[in-house]
Amino acid sequence: LTSGLESAWNKLKGEEVLTKENIVEPMRDIRRALLEADVSLPVVRRFVQSVSDQAVGVGLVRGVKPDQQLVKIVHDELVKLMGGEVSELVFAKSAPTVILLAGLQGVGKTTVCAKLANYLKKQGKSCMLIAGDVYRPAAIDQLVILGEQVGVPVYTEGTDVKPSEIARKGLSEAKKKNIDVVIVDTAGRLQIDKGMMDELKDVKLILNPTEVLLVVDAMTGQEAAALVTTFNLEIGITGAILTKLDGDSRGGAALSVKEVSGKPIKLVGRGERMEDLEPFYPNRMAGRILGMGDVLSFVEKAQEVMRQEDAEELKKKIMSANFDFNDFLKQTRAVAKMGSMTRVIGMIPGMAKVTPAQVREAEKNLKIMEAMIEVMTPEEREKPELLAESPERRKRVAQASGKTEQQVSQLVAQLFQMRVRMKNLMGVMEGGSIPSLSN
Ligand code: GDP
Ligand code: MG
Repeated sequence: LTSGLESAWNKLKGEEVLTKENIVEPMRDIRRALLEADVSLPVVRRFVQSVSDQAVGVGLVRGVKPDQQLVKIVHDELVKLMGGEVSELVFAKSAPTVILLAGLQGVGKTTVCAKLANYLKKQGKSCMLIAGDVYRPAAIDQLVILGEQVGVPVYTEGTDVKPSEIARKGLSEAKKKNIDVVIVDTAGRLQIDKGMMDELKDVKLILNPTEVLLVVDAMTGQEAAALVTTFNLEIGITGAILTKLDGDSRGGAALSVKEVSGKPIKLVGRGERMEDLEPFYPNRMAGRILGMGDVLSFVEKAQEVMRQEDAEELKKKIMSANFDFNDFLKQTRAVAKMGSMTRVIGMIPGMAKVTPAQVREAEKNLKIMEAMIEVMTPEEREKPELLAESPERRKRVAQASGKTEQQVSQLVAQLFQMRVRMKNLMGVMEGGSIPSLSN
C-alpha cells in the first residue's frame, strides 16, 4: 500500500496546485494501492471520489505543496473511514457487563476472550469467561488454560449442554459472584452458516449483551466487508476486534469494517501473547498505512518495558524532535527486550518498510548501532551535530567500536532522518502541519 501511495505523491512533484487534471494519475495509484491492500471495491470507489472532490476544491495554499496537500487529505479521509475517534468499550450501567464474541473459526475468538479479560483486569475490573464453544472439547480446555494464565475464572459445562443454556447458567453464576465483566466465547465455523447464526441469536437473546463484538482476522482481506455485513444483519454487532495485525496483513479489513457496517473497530490483536491487545486508533492506523511508522504505539509498547518516567521523557523528546543517541539507545534496547522484533519493527519510524525477510538483518544492524553509540562521549550522544560536523570524531567512534567510518556516518544520518520523520508524523497526527515529503 505504502509504495503505491508514494508513487502517487511523486507524480505531483513540481505542480503548483491540485487540479482536476493533475490528480487523475495520482488518484489512479491510490485506487490501485487500496485494491491491492484488499479494500473492497465499493469502499475504494467512495474513498477515491471523496478524496478527489476535496483535492480539487482546496486550491492554492501558500507554503504547502500539492503533494503534501494530497497526503493530508488522504490521511484525514483514512481516519474518517476508520471511524475517526477511538471507540471505547461500553459498560453496562449495572454489572455485569456482558461481552459476546462472534466470528469464524480460527480468527482468534478464544484467544481474545483471555486477552480481553487480561486487559480489563488491568483496569481493575473482575472478569469471568464462559466457554460457549461446545463442539470441540479442546476448545473448552483451551479457554480454561488461557483463563488460568491470566488469572480469571472460566465457567464451563460439558459438551452436551446447549450454548444458550451454558450462557444462562454462567451469567447467573457471574451475578452471584458480583463479577464486573462476563466474556462469552462461542463456536465458529469455517464459513458463515445458518446453524452458527441461529446459535448466536439464541445466546444473544438469553444474555442481552452490552457488546457483541465480531472478531475479524486482519488477513481476511476483501471478504471482510461481506463478513461484517452478514454478521451485522443477522445478529447485530456493536463493534469489531481485528486480530493478527502483527502478520503481514495488507490492512484492507481495517479500512472496510466501519464503512460497510457503521460499527467501529474497538480493539486490535497484535500477537499471540496475552498482552497483545490494544485499543484501535484510527489516526495511528492511517499514519501506519501512509508509511510513516507508528511512533505512539511504539512508545506505549516501550512503556511496558521501560520505567514510566523514561518513557514519558522519550515521548517528549520525540515531540520536540530533540531525539538524541541516548534515546536511540534506550529505544533499541527496549526493542531488544521486547523480543519480538517482527511485531515492533514496523512501528519504528525510518524502519517502517522492513519486511519480515529483512528482520534478521535489522536485528544485526541494531547490534552494530549499539556498539557505535556505546563508545560515543556523553556530549556526542546528546549533540549528534558534533559527530555530523567532525570527521575526526566519527573516525574515533569507528575505531573504538571496530566499525567503519561509513557505518558511523550512516548512523548519524539515520538519527537525523528519524528526527525529521518523527516531527512530520507528530504534525500529521495532531492535525496541524503537513508533512514534508522531501525524504
Ligand atoms: P478461534 O477459533 O476463533 O477461537 O481462534 P483461536 O483463539 O483458537 O486462535 C487461533 C490461532 O490464532 C491460535 O493459534 C492463536 O494463537 C492465533 N492468534 C490469535 N490472535 C492472534 C494475533 O493477534 N496474532 C497472532 N499472530 N496470532 C493470533
Ligand atoms: Mg475458539
